[in-house]
Amino acid sequence: MSDRVRVYEVARELGLPNKEVLELLAELGEEVKSHSSSIDGETAELVRDHVVEERRRAAADEKENEERLAGVLGLGAEDAPEADEEDEDEGEDEFDDDGGGGGVEAGELHLKAPITVRDLAIGLGAKPNQLIGELMTMNVFAAINQVLEVELVERVCERHGVKFVRERRAKAKAKAKEQRRSKDAKDKRAGKAVSRAPVVAFLGHVDHGKTSLQDYIRKTKVADGEAGGITQHIGASVVETEAGRQLTLLDTPGHEAFTSMRARGANATDIAVLVVAADDGVMPQTIEAINHTKAADVTIVVAMNKMDLPGANPDKVMLGLQQNGIMPEAWGGDVGLCPVSAITGEGIDDLLERIVLESEMLELSAFPEGECEALVIEAQLESAMGTTASALVRNGTLHVGDVMLCGKYWGRVKALIDSTGKRVKSAGPSTPVKVLGLNGVPEAGDILTICLNERVAKARAQEAITEFRATELGSSRGTTLEDLFLKMEEESRLELKLVLKADVHGSLEAITESLEKIESEKISAKVIHGAVGEVTENDVSLAAASGATIIGFNIRAMPGVNKMAKQRGVEIRLYGVIYELLEQIEDAMIGKLEPDQRETPIGEAEIIQVISTSKVGRICGCRVNGGVIRVGASARVKREDEVIYNGLIASLRRFKDDVREVRSGLECGIGLQNFEEFEEGDMIEAFEITEIRPEL
Ligand code: GDP
Repeated sequence: MSDRVRVYEVARELGLPNKEVLELLAELGEEVKSHSSSIDGETAELVRDHVVEERRRAAADEKENEERLAGVLGLGAEDAPEADEEDEDEGEDEFDDDGGGGGVEAGELHLKAPITVRDLAIGLGAKPNQLIGELMTMNVFAAINQVLEVELVERVCERHGVKFVRERRAKAKAKAKEQRRSKDAKDKRAGKAVSRAPVVAFLGHVDHGKTSLQDYIRKTKVADGEAGGITQHIGASVVETEAGRQLTLLDTPGHEAFTSMRARGANATDIAVLVVAADDGVMPQTIEAINHTKAADVTIVVAMNKMDLPGANPDKVMLGLQQNGIMPEAWGGDVGLCPVSAITGEGIDDLLERIVLESEMLELSAFPEGECEALVIEAQLESAMGTTASALVRNGTLHVGDVMLCGKYWGRVKALIDSTGKRVKSAGPSTPVKVLGLNGVPEAGDILTICLNERVAKARAQEAITEFRATELGSSRGTTLEDLFLKMEEESRLELKLVLKADVHGSLEAITESLEKIESEKISAKVIHGAVGEVTENDVSLAAASGATIIGFNIRAMPGVNKMAKQRGVEIRLYGVIYELLEQIEDAMIGKLEPDQRETPIGEAEIIQVISTSKVGRICGCRVNGGVIRVGASARVKREDEVIYNGLIASLRRFKDDVREVRSGLECGIGLQNFEEFEEGDMIEAFEITEIRPEL
């Protein structure tokens, strides 16, 4: 790693603009994020060689051109050959397809030189490690980023039964240019584009520092005792980096809200900051977050937090990430990893810088004068303001006075409030604003648009209502016999009925979804009623009538409600942390299940003699063949493998003494509870039954 250099250093050394070096790197198959990314010494050397070679070629071309010109002008020398291509393998043009190092097609693998171990592995559909191993068997010891000789690539491809075709750079370059041009054309068609701030979401395991990092970045101080750590409210705010670049931070209660928004087709996030505590490493929710961001195809930047702690272990974090498909740059991958501390502030500038760089790569843009579209991230009824919807403008501009439509609701924009609480006249792309004026509470993930006038808005809202009713009706119609059986089967399953009340729609959705996802064959959690708001007397009535438990998230119970609940025997559980809520509901579900019983054999005895006594009736003389026989243990008597008794060991005797237990190899008298029909040769198996916590 010692010989790594920054892209801009190489650019400066060669006297080239950063952009050109970045392009060249891309062409060489080495995608890097920005001019401040570092590349290894070998790649830098390749760049230098390439530039030197290009310059030499350009000089030669110029000379050739001069000669050709001289020829044309009849100044002597004959026509010089056209020198427009830099590759030698002519006649392969028809294989130049997508300009990249695609996979194997029709038994051929097309790759642009230089080809690294990683490129080749990807091309062959193998893991880089596998390929490194394979190369070793060929006596080649190569690192993942190492460039392979074309001849070697050919040999490896041959081993894989594939023909290697070296792709021509010039074609690839032309293709890229072509793509850029058509994109430009599209942009033009849509009007004037401006770059917009990236929308950033913080994801990661509970307590890894999402809230602390966001708070630090916003430079606002949040009370230390903030319940458990999952961000409590769904909203967004705009922050500015040192260099004056803006970022829109989305506050989501972890990845659940992120996913439920996405499920509704509303992917607001451009960049996900995966927060991993350096002292804890990759944890279950980190992995979930990774999977969600991957599924959403969102760029990830890793914030390795809590670096101030003595237990910080970056290697462990990197290993965990790698094991879950996130390859940090330092390990040859392309994911930026920023060591930070939300307590000391260390590394946070770098993190923001990195987010900005990633967003540059994404070339995020929008059309402020284009059609307005905003995504509702949260909505509620506020006593003083009526319906408020926090919306993130994605395109166009939202103005006070506009007529807006949002699902089933519409209204005139009465006021816009920005993330600092200021009233503003308008909000452009990537700006989160609280919108006042809708005639109902929309849901998170709904899209807010602008209509020409109130008549149009009203008509569209009505259309949405009709459509909504139709789907509701549709879903309750057409029950088949199969459905009925399925329903009966479902009903025979145990159910934990819940009435769920939450502070905001986002949490409500996220929790309902998570609850319904708890998988179990034996029991399910069913939200029979879910709504935003405090726990009311109606909720208690409903819960009492249906045997449900009331769950509250980030809310309280209305005065008098607790008393009523007590009287009606309804349990109200209030939570401030989703994670805890889910854990306890799972516990409650388990609590409704019968405990599982586990049998542990403890000993075995053979009846060798049956004795009749006047005092305790028939007892059997036995020899303990293995383990131990204990009074009170469960016992089973078997005759030729058939069970003839199931019960308890009632008494044990040795030499006229009552004893508690008899060990292997000893003889004793065994009395069985309510059973005397034993015979010589019967086997007694003793075992203990333990009740274990059932699993879902
Ligand atoms: P979240 O659940 O991911 O939002 O985590 P929080 O931001 O609530 O942080 C959980 C706990 O870790 C809190 O007690 C924080 O004070 C602490 N914490 C967060 N970041 C750091 C850090 O960089 N260093 C140290 N030492 N503690 C931190």
